[in-house]
Amino acid sequence: MNDKISGGCLCGAVTYEVENDFKRFYFCHCEQCRKITGSAHAANLFTRPDAIKWTAGEEHKKQFNYPDRDFTVVFCTECGSGLPFVTKNGKALIVPAGSLDAKPNIQPNDNIFWAERASWYDHGKQANKCEGFPS
Ligand SMILES: [Zn+2]
Ligand SMILES: [Zn+2]
Repeated sequence: MNDKISGGCLCGAVTYEVENDFKRFYFCHCEQCRKITGSAHAANLFTRPDAIKWTAGEEHKKQFNYPDRDFTVVFCTECGSGLPFVTKNGKALIVPAGSLDAKPNIQPNDNIFWAERASWYDHGKQANKCEGFPS
């Protein structure tokens, strides 16, 4: 029996519990992940499809399947936050790391689709670190 950690969307409408037994952790820099997150990359944990239990708000989940590349996103219909989903082939559960309320058992393994990373990504890692907004 593995430890469980909770997760959910920003507005709190959708919540879940997942076994803290992740196998892989990728930052995906592909163009589709950048679009869907509106950010530099997705941060996705992979585990077994049956490792999750939804604890609230399943009716607020909406799924989008991108037609060209095997690519899916599930989000909260109230606040738009990314949520876990099972891959099309049914073999893995993908959990957006930012949706977790606690620390996962593993650290990121790989930056995938590295060649597609944003033109400003490398510079951004060197930018000033501020506690809040810059003064
Ligand atoms: Zn929400
Ligand atoms: Zn991607």
